[in-house]
Amino acid sequence: MPSNNSENAGSSGSGYDFDVIVVGGGSGGLACAKRCAKHGKKVTLLDYVKPSPYGTKWGLGGTCVNVGCIPKKLMHYGAILGESAGDARSLGWTKFGKEEGKDHPTHDWETLVMSVQNYVRSINFGYRTELREQSVEYKNEFGVFVDDHTIECTNKRGEKSTITGEHIVFAPGGRPRYLGVPGDEELCITSDDIFSLQKSPGKTLVVGASYIALECAGFLTAFGYDTYVMARSIFLRGFDQEVAEHIGSYMERHGTKMIRRCVPVKFEKVEDESDPNHGMIACTYKNLDFEFETTEYFDTVLLAVGRTACTDVNLEAAGVELNPKTGKVLVDEYDKTSAGNIYAIGDAVDTRQELTPVAIKSGERLADRLFGGRPDYKMDYLEVPTTVFTPLEYGCVGMSEELAKETYGEDKLEVYHSFLRPLEWKTNQEFYDLKKGIEHREDNTCFFKLITLKEENERVVGLHYVGPNAGEVVQGFAVAVKLGATKADFDDTVGIHPTVAEEFTMLKVTKSSGKDPTKRGC
Ligand code: FAD
Ligand code: NDP
Repeated sequence: MPSNNSENAGSSGSGYDFDVIVVGGGSGGLACAKRCAKHGKKVTLLDYVKPSPYGTKWGLGGTCVNVGCIPKKLMHYGAILGESAGDARSLGWTKFGKEEGKDHPTHDWETLVMSVQNYVRSINFGYRTELREQSVEYKNEFGVFVDDHTIECTNKRGEKSTITGEHIVFAPGGRPRYLGVPGDEELCITSDDIFSLQKSPGKTLVVGASYIALECAGFLTAFGYDTYVMARSIFLRGFDQEVAEHIGSYMERHGTKMIRRCVPVKFEKVEDESDPNHGMIACTYKNLDFEFETTEYFDTVLLAVGRTACTDVNLEAAGVELNPKTGKVLVDEYDKTSAGNIYAIGDAVDTRQELTPVAIKSGERLADRLFGGRPDYKMDYLEVPTTVFTPLEYGCVGMSEELAKETYGEDKLEVYHSFLRPLEWKTNQEFYDLKKGIEHREDNTCFFKLITLKEENERVVGLHYVGPNAGEVVQGFAVAVKLGATKADFDDTVGIHPTVAEEFTMLKVTKSSGKDPTKRGC
């Protein structure tokens, strides 16, 4: 039914204010809203950001653009540039930093944040323009369900209105979780805050050991901050654990301090002016094996302990069911919730990968199914490639070795592996060996793993790559893996020389052979 909101009442032709209401203007919501409008539908999109406990807020575009992939990748790139300075010096570049002739490049946090945030704001503006051009009505308002066709909208002044829609697409994403220990919300920041942090973070503790924790710890270490990672269990849960350990130990050798098997108990601000740690955050943490407690002092504590879906919006009134364990929305293979006209996409959906391209593709395909005459155009959530942007990047597609063993049995697999050091890093090692006596670019840090299924002609069921430009490398191989490529297909493919990725066309050493997979020379 049309609402009593006279501006929109009955104007969609469907008897509702809008053909489609999209709740959430992040990766999934924006993609879906634009595609629905392209199919000629009357669409409105609600996007509203509640400030983080630290006070950070941002504009249209959701997590990826404002507090996720985009600022993260720029900071990661900044970190890599610094790390590459040694390579540059060894190839003839001599002047680094603002002061001429500096031996080491220096880093300025304020410049980094200003550049990153200027770019983010330009994207916020671009999205608003795009929505206007594509006739999607943008409302900077928070949506709460009244029933399965009605949303109550609240703007930043607290004013309320209601709108109705024939279809509702729910794409609210998630927000960082806190630990629930004393002082965490008052004293710690999260990924919602780090990319716009006005003062340099200084000595930093990162709590957590997955994507966000390791990526942030990686760039902070590279910028020169004394950085600690507190891991309660394994690195990169769900990823190939041999690779995850390889990444963790590389980071450790390159300066990130790992506090293993520990969890924070409380955070306190040191208020005593006579204390040498005055102004710092005292983190008391517990060792999970021996139960003893230790206190250590930090300028910044960044929590990266998972995310909670933003589903606290009276979904029960609309008949939308959640998984009570995860708090995420249950959907069928067509992204339909238990309320027939309400669909859910993106990070808030149960069992889906929390990745931007997944949210975007789900949103676009949903619109094409509903209005584009392609009712079976489903999203395939298998073999989704991903990259962890740690200093030594890690890209993969398909199964981890653990999952492949569990799924098929160890005896059914042939695993190929290899280690090497890229050509581009070789001159740097000589430079550092000669002048400093330390090794910056180590031998055999890049890692290649192909997991194949013997009984299916060595079909590749998992591809893992650790090295430069992992996202760029794995994106192409993901097509091959999705098409069912076998080891012989990889062998038949001619390499591109001299690259790191060509190693995938030359893998010879199997794990079962027990032969040395490391390499020297070209
Ligand atoms: P979001 O992008 O979170 O958007 C949801 C929007 O809806 C938000 O703006 C929210 O404020 C708004 N909203 C919520 N509830 C309501 C409501 N009731 N009313 C109105 N508005 C509401 N993915 C990658 O693929 N690659 C990466 O490199 C990568 N890096 C990441 C780094 C970090 C630090 C983080 C946190 C995430 C990263 N991700 C990455 C994940 C990626 O950002 C998410 O998977 C993606 O943004 C999810 O999109 P979404 O549309 O589901 O939700
Ligand atoms: P995850 O849920 O992947 O990891 C949470 C981490 O926090 C784990 O290491 C977990 O340890 C730890 N943890 C959880 N609770 C506690 C606790 N109470 N005390 C101590 N440690 C705890 O979350 P992330 O925040 O890292 O990432 C969320 C999602 O965002 C990812 O799954 C990914 O899809 C997406 N993302 C993608 C990126 C990319 O594509 N490059 C980058 C960043 C994020 P344990 O293993 O012991 O449970």
